[in-house]
Amino acid sequence: MTVPFVDLKRQHALIEREIDEAIRRVLAHQEFIQGRELVAFEAAFARYLGVKHVVGCSNGTDAIILALLALGIGPGDEVVTASHTFVATAEAILSIGAVPVFADVKAGSGLLDPAEVEKAVTSRTKAILPVHLYGQVAGMDEFRKIAQRHGLKLIEDAAQAHGALDQGRMAGTLGDAASFSFFPGKNLGAIGDAGAVVTQDDALAASLRAIRDHGRTHSKYEHFRLGRNMRMDGLQAAVLETKLRYLDRWNTQRRAIAKKYDEAFRGLPGLRLTEIEPGCTSSCHLYVIRHERRDWFREQLKKAGVESGVHYPIPVHRQPFLKESHGARSFPVTEKFAETCLSLPIFGEMRDDEVSQVIAAVSNSLVHGSHSR
Ligand SMILES: *Cc1c(COP(=O)(O)O)cnc(C)c1O
Repeated sequence: MTVPFVDLKRQHALIEREIDEAIRRVLAHQEFIQGRELVAFEAAFARYLGVKHVVGCSNGTDAIILALLALGIGPGDEVVTASHTFVATAEAILSIGAVPVFADVKAGSGLLDPAEVEKAVTSRTKAILPVHLYGQVAGMDEFRKIAQRHGLKLIEDAAQAHGALDQGRMAGTLGDAASFSFFPGKNLGAIGDAGAVVTQDDALAASLRAIRDHGRTHSKYEHFRLGRNMRMDGLQAAVLETKLRYLDRWNTQRRAIAKKYDEAFRGLPGLRLTEIEPGCTSSCHLYVIRHERRDWFREQLKKAGVESGVHYPIPVHRQPFLKESHGARSFPVTEKFAETCLSLPIFGEMRDDEVSQVIAAVSNSLVHGSHSR
């Protein structure tokens, strides 16, 4: 039996009837772009997060772009962020002509290191963009202090952190704005691309709404500012509103699997677990371990019928398209993560026997593998 890295078909099977209903509803009223389904989802997600405004948009990358644009960040401005992340974080910054300035992450958790961020701030810095990587919340109190000291905006990349908590506070409510992705494989996933920006700020929310829809505010062919087309489909909104009702249940299931892994893996030779930050309740988007011979280890798991992933194998500053501009700098902790990290299967509908198979595969590889060096 092969344990899949993720299996979205199982989740769909559980809620198929409700999803069908949501889709039929949209086909009946034909509001395909934004419309009433988006209004309903935005209200529901705002209630869930305990935040004033949710502005739904086309995807998680556009959500970052929207947040940067609405906060007035533009060409030549520097934004301090992590290199140990999905490429979209830096891509969004570059796509508006701003400059990503990378800072290293913490060796325990892989989260952006406030001490390194402080060092990266220059007179051109306009914002800090921490990533809530793997589902943990980056140290927002420390970033807030740095932001206040230097007069910077603070934007959370919460694409992996739906429902994650830091001392009881929801990820996505701790900066000036936060971006979410609803890519199908995220903890809350659409049936295509979708994203959102959230904020407590009324004026910022109005800007976000205008920019995502061609700079319109209230009349159809009057455009008050340069906008874009970054709208969310009604279909995606209807599906997301349906799935949101299950998010806490799915997150709880993910956390239970993470706990089993933690207990089974503690003390295994050669394995390094991701440390949980004090006071943080992860959304457990990914369960990431580290091993010096990662590719060998991954092969052992594959032989034992366990799929795995690598998040992420190439640091953003070493990506081919950024090598020339950013590749000369070194971020040792980030680079080490990229060489050694491995993500194990974790998703709400994973069965107990599959969790046991993963645990057995990991333990056996390490115990027997250590003889075959
Ligand atoms: C998924 C992801 C994004 C991008 O979201 P899309 O919806 O795929 O555009 C951005 N940042 C991080 C950390 C992500 O995991």
